[in-house]
Order: sequence, then C-alpha cells, then structure tokens
Amino acid sequence: MATPLSAAVFLARLRAEGVKVQEHGDWPHHNRNSKGAWGPVHGVMIHHTVTKGSARTVDICRKGYADLPGPLCHGVITKDGTVHLIGYGRANHAGLGDDDVLRAVIGDKVVPGDNEANTDGNRHFYGFECENLGDGEDPWPAAQMEAIEKAAAAICRHHGWTERSVIGHLEWQPGKVDPRGFTMASMRARIQERLDTKTSDTPAKPAAPKPLPKPQKPTVDLSKLVAAARSNPKASGTPVTYSGVRIVETALVNAGLLAKVYSDGHFGSATVDAYARWQRRLGYSGSAADGIPGKTSLTKLGAKYGFQVIA
Ligand SMILES: [Zn+2]
Repeated sequence: MATPLSAAVFLARLRAEGVKVQEHGDWPHHNRNSKGAWGPVHGVMIHHTVTKGSARTVDICRKGYADLPGPLCHGVITKDGTVHLIGYGRANHAGLGDDDVLRAVIGDKVVPGDNEANTDGNRHFYGFECENLGDGEDPWPAAQMEAIEKAAAAICRHHGWTERSVIGHLEWQPGKVDPRGFTMASMRARIQERLDTKTSDTPAKPAAPKPLPKPQKPTVDLSKLVAAARSNPKASGTPVTYSGVRIVETALVNAGLLAKVYSDGHFGSATVDAYARWQRRLGYSGSAADGIPGKTSLTKLGAKYGFQVIA
C-alpha cells in the first residue's frame, strides 16, 4: 500500500532507471480522477495494445475510444523502447479484477488464478500499455522488453516493492490475454534481477561512514627493552637506545611510579627503580623485582597502559 507518486517523481524515477521517456501533452493532468479514486497503489500492470504503429498507438492510448475514454494507461511502451507518458492519475487500463489477486499483490505473494471481476483495478495499479498486436506472433524487440523491465522496476524500487507487485492484465481480469508473447514470470524474473543487482542512477543514500580502524596499540619488544635496561649507565658499556623505552616510561609515569622528568627514552637508573616498584606492586620481591622487565610484568603493564608486548 502506497500513496501514488507525484507525476514529477514518477518521471524522475523512470529517468533514473535509465528509461527513455517522451512526454505527451499535459500528461500530468490527463486522468479519470473525476470518475473514481486513484490510490492507494499496490502494483504495476502490463498490457499489450493490439495496435500497430507507434504514433497511432500513443494517440489511441491518450484519447481512448468512444466507450472507453483515455487515458488508457500512464505510459505507452513502443517497440523502440521509448516510454511515452500520456496520462497520470486514474486511468482506464485495469478494469474490474480479482480481489484475491489484489490481496496477493499486497501481501507480496504469488498471484492465484483470476476468476472474479469484483475489484476496481484502475484505482490500485500503475499501467503500461505496450505496442504489440497481441497475436502471439508480433515480436517483442529487446529494447521494448528492457523498457518494460526498467519502467516496472523504477516504480517497485521507489515503493520498496518486489517483482511480485508487477502483474499482467491477464492475471487480473478473467478473459484478458495480455500481454501475449512473453510470460509475466519471465518478466518478473528480469525485474527481480534488476532490483537485486542494479541501482538506479539517482543519488543513493550516503553510505554509512566506515568505522574507523581501531587504533593499533604500540608494541614493545621485550628483548630489545631488556637490552636497553641492562645497558643503563650504572652498567658497563654504551646505553642501548630503543624506541619502546619511551612507551614503557610513559606507562610508568601514568602508573605514578616514575617522575615525568625521567621519561626521557633512556632506561636509566630512575627507570629501573620505577620498574622495580611496578614489579613489587605485582607482588614480586628480591631478585624478581630487580627493575629489569620480565614478560609477565611487562605484559601486565601494557594491558593496563595501552601497549602490546612482543616476546
Ligand atoms: Zn490490458
């Protein structure tokens, strides 16, 4: 169930689906609204015209016949694949059909056979008349088939309907045979394929922003850190510099174990003392709290203050 599209949006949707459109006369206001309701809309109905010649076909569908005034549909789909807009609103195309079919269309179900003519279809269906003699021999050119597929898909896409909302007149009103020359099942399969795999070229809704990648935790290499700690000025040899020292010192500052002034990138005696305090905080004592990082104590420091340990 849906409110009918405005004529302007109807036109825009067809174009966005890639339909070649030609407008005729004051099509947005040519309708039978004075004779009955238009909407809510539930589906799209496909017909054949039993006419020959595009210009004549369009003209007949606009004006209708003495006992069936036009418009006879909303769009006439000629053999060259053009959709001619001739009317908008209530149009004389569907006539009375089967309420069970309408319920199936509304419920997005496979339509049952039509055996009743008790429901006003002109109120509830968009209609496309397709230029064809309807004798089962007159060919349906590829361009015309594609235009049917696109026009129906454009409307389904807008209303959020599936291909099951597209039916043939023969599925609606007992005695009707149109469209003849292809099956509605095959056309629905094409529409389904289009809805599933293609997007109209209307600007899509902006995609949801991608979640930012989780910031990678900095890593500290245990063996390099230990080498730096063991080369501190109290020990012999040249101090080993390692970028991971600064990461560990920052953690020790954050833990309240090292004065910020000693966070200088060198695993000096102040850092060794601070690390020993961390070890004691973890329950180590004696030589186990010597200020030289071990895997367990360093992993715990990293877990709490945001770095990963590579051992
Ligand atoms: Zn028909």
